[in-house]
Amino acid sequence: MTEIILDAAPDLDFDLKGLPKVSLHDHLDGGLRPATIIELAEAAGHTLPSTDPVALGEWFRESADSGSLVRYLETFDHTIAVMQTKEGLFRVAKEFVEDLADDGVVYGEVRWAPEQHLQQGLSLDDAVEAVQAGLEAGVDAVAETGRDIQVGQLITAMRHADRGQEIAELAVRHRNNGAVGFDIAGAEDGFLPSRFKDAFTYLAQHNFPATVHAGEAAGLESIQSALVDGRALRLGHGVRIAEDITVEFGDDEDADGEDADDNIGMVTLGGLASWVRDRGIALEICPSSNLQTGAVAGFGEGIESHPLDMLYQLGFNVTINTDNRLMSGVTLTDEFELLVETFDYDLDDLLELTLNAAEAAFLPLEEKEALVEYINEFYDELG
Ligand SMILES: [Zn+2]
Repeated sequence: MTEIILDAAPDLDFDLKGLPKVSLHDHLDGGLRPATIIELAEAAGHTLPSTDPVALGEWFRESADSGSLVRYLETFDHTIAVMQTKEGLFRVAKEFVEDLADDGVVYGEVRWAPEQHLQQGLSLDDAVEAVQAGLEAGVDAVAETGRDIQVGQLITAMRHADRGQEIAELAVRHRNNGAVGFDIAGAEDGFLPSRFKDAFTYLAQHNFPATVHAGEAAGLESIQSALVDGRALRLGHGVRIAEDITVEFGDDEDADGEDADDNIGMVTLGGLASWVRDRGIALEICPSSNLQTGAVAGFGEGIESHPLDMLYQLGFNVTINTDNRLMSGVTLTDEFELLVETFDYDLDDLLELTLNAAEAAFLPLEEKEALVEYINEFYDELG
């Protein structure tokens, strides 16, 4: 009976978009609507590669597809340029929430770095308040359409800069007004989380949670530092933890001379991979983004070689995310569809990945339980 249900699901005869989703890794400056960028750029006197929304959207996707994280990050110059005023931040945040709701997201965490939005005189606090007002307006607009969504801010420090402590204090200051967690972002290679050790200690002393970008453009040393120095409760990407896993395939025949082709091989986890799996540290996996930035290039070409499926099958706490919807030209629905098509994931898998994300959310326990219950009930009704 179970087999029949499992086999039927990959036919995609259900509405992926309508499934309730949880989005934990989505950058505010990576999720703007092209038409909004054009309007805001006009007002700000900022020159864009194109003033046609379709062509501009295409430009972002092509730039992001270059295979280099550095090139990928350059696209943010244009989005950040139009997010330097209260009005710009408000509008982008409001539309961000509306777009998430249209994608089926019921709970989201949006990350962004306030220090990048001070070029026209805003203070760090002004910027956080403007984004919060925009998020709340977005939640209200979604409520008017009869849907519910909740969105919290992940206040982010740029790892090449030196404002970690200041940003950590900013995040804690806004903990009762929308800030739910802390992150560091930007160029990972060469900028270990240990650079922000004091800021992370401050956060821990204030019982304020952190997720840390690690295991994307750098490997195990970066992940180790995120966990030890950053006290990361989740890993932004974290996908290169797979470098600490070895899979040895056995001989064609086992000891009894029987065919052992179905042997999936002997899997050995290193100490760091064991820690991440056994402690249930959530991996914020962003499949399309990982392909574009070359984060998973070491594992082979194409989505089939992405280690997320191996990590998931081995019991890692895998969650699925978009990273930058504008640059990658994807929604969370698209990412789900990609997994269904590539790995034959069925509704049970999508439910598990969604519950992983709900349980890893930076929410109080009662709210997490309510979110989990809502998602379970929705899937139950699908039969
Ligand atoms: Zn990211």
